[in-house]
Amino acid sequence: MRLLQLHPQIRAAARWKHSRIRTISTAIHQPDRVPWKALVSNLQYDPQIECKNGRANLKFRFQHDQGESLNYFVDSLISVINEQADELRRTFPNNYEIPSSDDVVIGDEVAMRILPLVHTWRSHCWNGISDKHEMGITNDTVELELCSHEEHDKDCKCSLPLKERKMEAFLRQYEENDCYCFMPVNGEAFFNLEITKTLLIQGEIGTILNIFSHPDVDYSEWWNQAECHCNACEFNIGLDQIYNMALRSYITLNALLHFPSCGTMHYLIQKMPMTTGNLSHTKR
Ligand SMILES: [Zn+2]
Ligand SMILES: [Zn+2]
Ligand SMILES: [Zn+2]
Ligand SMILES: [Zn+2]
Repeated sequence: MRLLQLHPQIRAAARWKHSRIRTISTAIHQPDRVPWKALVSNLQYDPQIECKNGRANLKFRFQHDQGESLNYFVDSLISVINEQADELRRTFPNNYEIPSSDDVVIGDEVAMRILPLVHTWRSHCWNGISDKHEMGITNDTVELELCSHEEHDKDCKCSLPLKERKMEAFLRQYEENDCYCFMPVNGEAFFNLEITKTLLIQGEIGTILNIFSHPDVDYSEWWNQAECHCNACEFNIGLDQIYNMALRSYITLNALLHFPSCGTMHYLIQKMPMTTGNLSHTKR
């Protein structure tokens, strides 16, 4: 089932407000406060459509008051998300003590919680990334044990090496790279971006706030990023992907609840994309 393409107005609003939607993935579900009727009254659901050529099961009806109605929906959704984000932020300390580079910023308990997901994307989903690269596919079969290897230990094939849980690993800086050179130049920094995405998916907000309190974390470079800046590469590997996917899924799933003929909700509760690391342009 193809997800509803985000309406340009929603997309624009989301982009404009992206700094305020930082915590969308963990925003508390508040279906009653979002005027879903304003959205779904403008949609029709067609179960027959095959998901080919960008066609979708949900389509706009293009009624005369569509723009007005969607604007109202978007404005309301933005304010609910903002309120939820602010409320969630208040449950964490205002300031964090800046970690030193040797500090293990992903503690054992958090590491255990994110390990299965890290293992999943390292075993199956990191498409296109050379298995020769040290950050690529792991052959780790021990899924649920924490790594205790020293930094340069060649025996470490763990999905989440101990050194990747230290502050130092999150201080790798983005460098602009030539075509086909993303992994050699930025692969290691990208690995920790994927760890950050995983933390976000798992709702480990405190850990992220602690890491981001370090002034040398350069994730503004990674908000919206591409494998290289040629015309062939899309900006589809940044941190923004997680927010876009979360927002799109949230809106689509809630919209579909209003169409009883769509009896296949289980179909949609498929695994969310674990990683956006679909690196088509990386030399194998
Ligand atoms: Zn596995
Ligand atoms: Zn290890
Ligand atoms: Zn290029
Ligand atoms: Zn390229």
